[in-house]
Amino acid sequence: MKVLKFGGTSVANPENINKVKSILGNQANEKIAVVVSAFGGVTDLLLSASKLASQQDLNFKNSLAEIEDRHISTIKELIPVTSQSGVLSKIKSELNTLETLLEGAFLIGELTPKLSDKIVSYGELLSSYIISEFLKAEGLDVAFKDSRELIVTDNNFGKANVDFKKTNTLCEAYFANNSNQITILPGFVASSSTGNSTTLGRGGSDYTAAIIAGAVNADILEIWTDVSGMYTANPKLVKQAKCVANISYEEAMELSHFGAKVLYPPTIQPVLGKEIPIAIKNTFDPESPGTLIAKNNNGNGKTVRGISHVGNISLLSLEGPGMIGIPGISKRFFETLSVKNISIVLITQASSEHSICVGIADEDVDLAAEAVNETFEYEISTKKIKPVILEKDLTIVALVGDNMKSHQGLSGKMFSTLGKNNVNIRAIAQGASERNISAVIKKDDVKKALNSLHETFFEENIKQLNLFVMGVGNVGSKFLDQIRQQKKYLKDELKLNVRVVGISNSRKMAFDENGISLKEWESILGNGEAADKKAFFERIKSLNYRNSIFVDNTASAEVSESYPDYLKNSISVVTCNKIACSSDFEHYKNLKHLAKQYNSPFLFETNVGAGLPIIDTLKHLIASGDKIRKIQAVLSGSLNFVFNTFNDSVTFHDVVKQAQEQGYTEPDPTIDLSGVDVMRKILILARESGHQLDIEDIENEPFLPEESLETNSNEAFFESLKKYEADFQKMYKDAADKDCKLKYVAQFEDGKAKVGLQQIPKGHDFYNLEGSDNIVLFFTDRYVNQPLIIKGAGAGADVTASGIFADIVRIGNF
Ligand code: ADP
Ligand code: ASP
Ligand code: MG
Repeated sequence: MKVLKFGGTSVANPENINKVKSILGNQANEKIAVVVSAFGGVTDLLLSASKLASQQDLNFKNSLAEIEDRHISTIKELIPVTSQSGVLSKIKSELNTLETLLEGAFLIGELTPKLSDKIVSYGELLSSYIISEFLKAEGLDVAFKDSRELIVTDNNFGKANVDFKKTNTLCEAYFANNSNQITILPGFVASSSTGNSTTLGRGGSDYTAAIIAGAVNADILEIWTDVSGMYTANPKLVKQAKCVANISYEEAMELSHFGAKVLYPPTIQPVLGKEIPIAIKNTFDPESPGTLIAKNNNGNGKTVRGISHVGNISLLSLEGPGMIGIPGISKRFFETLSVKNISIVLITQASSEHSICVGIADEDVDLAAEAVNETFEYEISTKKIKPVILEKDLTIVALVGDNMKSHQGLSGKMFSTLGKNNVNIRAIAQGASERNISAVIKKDDVKKALNSLHETFFEENIKQLNLFVMGVGNVGSKFLDQIRQQKKYLKDELKLNVRVVGISNSRKMAFDENGISLKEWESILGNGEAADKKAFFERIKSLNYRNSIFVDNTASAEVSESYPDYLKNSISVVTCNKIACSSDFEHYKNLKHLAKQYNSPFLFETNVGAGLPIIDTLKHLIASGDKIRKIQAVLSGSLNFVFNTFNDSVTFHDVVKQAQEQGYTEPDPTIDLSGVDVMRKILILARESGHQLDIEDIENEPFLPEESLETNSNEAFFESLKKYEADFQKMYKDAADKDCKLKYVAQFEDGKAKVGLQQIPKGHDFYNLEGSDNIVLFFTDRYVNQPLIIKGAGAGADVTASGIFADIVRIGNF
């Protein structure tokens, strides 16, 4: 014999019930018991109706009307008109009784646990009856049996305890004598030996099925639900979760105990002793293999089998100097909780002799605190013990696996994963069975914690990076192109799964939690919401994803001022915007400090030399113990272009104009021509070499006449260039006469930096620098005579985008 159970979603509506029918129709011709839940959502409706009624709120009638409608419309849709009337009149009469019960609660203004169970049992009673009549009408060989006649419990309403002796006898007798192939039974409901309706706890239909399976010694118990098995984590929260094909009873029990709702925790117990396997199957994908829970089925030595979580947890701690040496404190503490019927979900390892800390359901914790404070009233009044400390809104996340005990380092890996993602751990515990390691964390961090842990333990080291890109102009759009082109390579070769979750320009912003399609980002952004920098940040913060990276492709000071907010929320920052790193030293230092403190890299490789690995090389030199003695560099692609193009056959004005038109200069060309841009770059290199420097400390001997520098529009600036053409020609001639070329050079030596135009003789490393190329010479303790040279294109959207890309990959490997 087989026992099948169909959950709430599987029977939520006529369409789904038809799926159940075809699953049952495909069974071999053996006897089967089929346990069904209430139609999805009906139990919640019944509970809310009862609560409203007991509060004398007439709105209970709305919930009742909805319940009635769900059942009547299902009957009308499923059962042929010819046989409808009998079913309708039976159900209507049941609904009338239900209404009377709710009215009773309304009139008295009270809901006893006994009445609550009576009311809530209607969910399963109605669904099972309707389904059995439907299947009969469809020609299946079906009987209906009320589980209250088979399962006997005590009177612990809401979560009654089963009397297995009586129950097993009743079940055996019924199924031995029943000749129908299929018996439909309501899940969740039972009755006490004194004849009251009781229930087995929320999610208890699984348990009903297991009790019957155990009693009749079934060959298998099949739990049909809305997911294809037991997953490595709740698939609704962790998209990458995978179905676990095989799992042991103990592992499944531990996972369900820690919140894997797919199986109600007590379900294992009735089948465990008889070694009846449990299959978890998907009603909506019957062909998929699902999960098999069986003895010793613990996955060929794999360690972590699943991650689950229990929400709505509070920590209650009792501590005080007076606890040391007073015997029996723990006994009194645990006794107090036990007398109040409060279950303890977790006892933390943190409990030393002078503190005890337990995890309790949020709903019980106020009562628990009151009771414990009362028990220790005397010790509290004499200040030997402090009143209990409560911390609410927490969640337990647990790693589960039978083989975890024989492996070292798992808890280290777990905690470092959480730490890296800035998930604060409030308490930890490890079951004595060593089958689980649990951490108590803040409720808001759950999704992030589950996903990071899943990544660490299950995803073949594929790391998910979540990008939020502000600025999608020249550089930004190239960057998005590069991500799109390289997505597959990044995943296959570097094990990085890069997803752009948010983008913004100055007008619009758009988000997609599944990742914005990089083929259509332009239209998606065009249809996005109005851009708002603060709202952009708030959205990223509330998404609270692991490995979030804010990419700033703007040149905006306002955007650069928001970096501390990002870093403080463990959101890494990658930027080609130079403003932050060249602003005052304290600000720069603070950003570096925040990056360290919050484990959120702050990278700005493209601030100097676009995509050239200048800052990264500098960091590596320093990390390896080298010391920077001198840096000499041509760092302005724009100025290099200008002086490479300028000669006695063109005017300086025309060359600058051309540079501006071809995008080699900033929109305001004076930023380049005044040397300010180069000052910022050498400042950043000096700071990265470990020196405390500000922009005012840099010597700058301008080559432009003061008048040109002081113009306040591009037009006026270009006009002034015309006026001073003779001076520019002289500059060129002086150099050419000495066989030299003009280069705008930045230098840093002995803690001092300077920038300015220099005549570079033939043979010098700078002499042959082409187009808009950059070059940097690092003279260090190790590179004494021959400097380490980095040279190449130092400007352009493509290379800048690739520099940002490289920073993203660096974070991926972090
Ligand atoms: P039913 O109504 O069929 O009893 P439940 O809602 O009680 O279904 O349980 C199925 C749900 O359990 C899934 O939809 C899923 O959201 C949740 N769940 C939580 N953890 C897990 C897990 N590790 N594997 C599969 N499902 C899980
Ligand atoms: N209907 C009950 C509940 O929602 C029992 C179950 O579905 O397992 O809790
Ligand atoms: Mg369930």
